[in-house]
Amino acid sequence: MERIVAERLFFAVWPDTATRAALRASTPPRMRGSGRPTPEEKLHLTVLFLGQMTPAARRCVESAADAVDCQAFTMKLTRIGYFPRSRVLWAGMSEVPESLAALHEALRNGARSCGCEIETHAYAPHITLMRDAPGHFPAPERVDIPWHVRFFALVASRTRPGGTHYETLRTWPLR
Ligand code: ATP
Ligand code: MG
Repeated sequence: MERIVAERLFFAVWPDTATRAALRASTPPRMRGSGRPTPEEKLHLTVLFLGQMTPAARRCVESAADAVDCQAFTMKLTRIGYFPRSRVLWAGMSEVPESLAALHEALRNGARSCGCEIETHAYAPHITLMRDAPGHFPAPERVDIPWHVRFFALVASRTRPGGTHYETLRTWPLR
């Protein structure tokens, strides 16, 4: 009998080397050397958070992802912002790019067709640059970072003593 072990899963896109370097450089100088910067290999943008998923649910969302027919796209990260409550410094954009919204919706519809309960609040894409970011971050900073999105990934998030560990389970190319 299969042991039912639910895992915390999410769909995400991972930046390429150039975008990673630009993200790293985008941390405002006054914030450097403080907080907990996201290690470069962990920089990502969540496309759809699934939460705890059983193996059967995972298989279903993987099949749904097989049927996603979205194009590769280039988006621009245009701003650095700060969530005061969670003390997170992030990179993102003022408006969700259409292609990213389309990918989000395709995956969300797929997950819903599998019976997954997906949160209904608006999709707010962002890349966490730093946790425990110090103090007040007064105004959004403008940046201009292109990101060529050519694939998406299904990732497991595991809580470990040293911190959260991400494991990419599968990737899908975009058309
Ligand atoms: P930790 O929570 O251990 O500090 P983390 O936030 O990176 O690390 P998870 O909580 O497993 O790890 O989240 C994985 C990804 O999904 C992250 O990008 C996170 O921002 C996003 N995420 C987590 N919970 C939600 C949620 N309820 N709605 C939307 N996205 C979420
Ligand atoms: Mg979290």
